[in-house]
Amino acid sequence: MKSEIIAIGSEMLTPFRQDTNSLAVTEKLNGLGITVAFKTIVGDRRKDLVNAIRTALGRVDVLIITGGLGPTEDDLTREAVAETLNLTLRRDATLVAALHVRVASWRMPMPPNNQKQADLLEGATVLPNAHGSAPGQWLDTIYEGYRKLIVLLPGPPRECIPMFDDECLPRLREVAPPRAIAVRTLKAAMIPESQADSLLAPIYTTYTDVETTILAHTGDIQLTLQCAKPTAEAAQARVDELASKIEETLGDYLYSSQDESLEQIVLYYLGLKQATLAVAESCTGGMISERLTSVPGASRSFLGGAIVYSNELKNSLAGVPAETLTLYGAVSPEVAKALAEGIRRRTGAALGLGVTGIAGPTGGTESKPVGLVHFAICDAQGTEAVERTLHGDRQCIREWASQQALDMVRRRLM
Ligand code: ATP
Ligand code: MG
Repeated sequence: MKSEIIAIGSEMLTPFRQDTNSLAVTEKLNGLGITVAFKTIVGDRRKDLVNAIRTALGRVDVLIITGGLGPTEDDLTREAVAETLNLTLRRDATLVAALHVRVASWRMPMPPNNQKQADLLEGATVLPNAHGSAPGQWLDTIYEGYRKLIVLLPGPPRECIPMFDDECLPRLREVAPPRAIAVRTLKAAMIPESQADSLLAPIYTTYTDVETTILAHTGDIQLTLQCAKPTAEAAQARVDELASKIEETLGDYLYSSQDESLEQIVLYYLGLKQATLAVAESCTGGMISERLTSVPGASRSFLGGAIVYSNELKNSLAGVPAETLTLYGAVSPEVAKALAEGIRRRTGAALGLGVTGIAGPTGGTESKPVGLVHFAICDAQGTEAVERTLHGDRQCIREWASQQALDMVRRRLM
């Protein structure tokens, strides 16, 4: 079932007011398995309202309209719906009486224009308003041969949302076909987004019943697969089938198939191998340690390390020989290796990790440009170094570097 929400009110077409009703309504509709395919905001002009309502009825099954049910001249929702559907508006005597009672309780005479809040669309059901005077309306009707549900709700959020909860949700639950949603999130590290998409698009585009989204962020690709079916088993089966094809295609780029973070996976493998890790970080300035220590239980495998920003500390804390620093410079494979080996030796960790690079925006040279980062990982089997030239601003380069570093640990353990 597809739906559209129309928020009515010229104030929401200014920079000062937002349509917030549709956010809450969208969440609740999704919970019922009803997709929100469109959201529209229209000013208080009858012609525009009729136009928007007509367009919506041409493309969705459920139309939720909020606002414009009040007593003033610019409250035109009832009239616009009546015009679009060619329905008459009838003033409901019971509703008029209720309005009289309400206004009388304020010890005021009822202004005549108040009465238009009692105008009911032909065939509509009244939705009582527990928090205000304008009742809502529920219309189950046929438009150009198709069944349409049209719901009119008041604009003020404190009236609109409770009315939706109390009056609309139970009715919608009865008409919405049963639907269960299955979601899975897969993650891959250090694969360019365009490469991932050219590998995966031929696969996921054949699963038209699974909605696939790809989000890319500094060396991390997140694929979300979502499928809705009448039963949870059917939805899960489709998502799992596509997930296993994606896993196969991405190979060892893929690090998670249940939404875990890269640092969680690294710690998981360390735990599995009963291995420990220590790091010597220069340009990442502690980011790698921060990511690892954000995972509960990290202390079982992560020993710690050192932030060795200056050459002096690279030497005194991570044991990088002064000659190596002078001979090759701080940003070099030799220093990255010496960092990894030195921190491993000094901490007694099973694995040592070293990172050194130029995060920019200044400090780059012809031979060592901004973004150049050297990484090294070492264990009892030996030391391996990797060089990368990363792009973006300082923060971006540092985030990519922390991702590459953690990914090296993962690959070493796999
Ligand atoms: P009233 O009887 O108060 O006139 P109404 O149904 O005619 O109610 P509107 O006049 O459209 O509603 O709006 C009343 C108030 O509710 C305004 O302050 C308006 O900004 C706010 N409002 C209307 N629509 C929304 C929306 N979609 N999201 C958030 N606030 C809204
Ligand atoms: Mg109003």
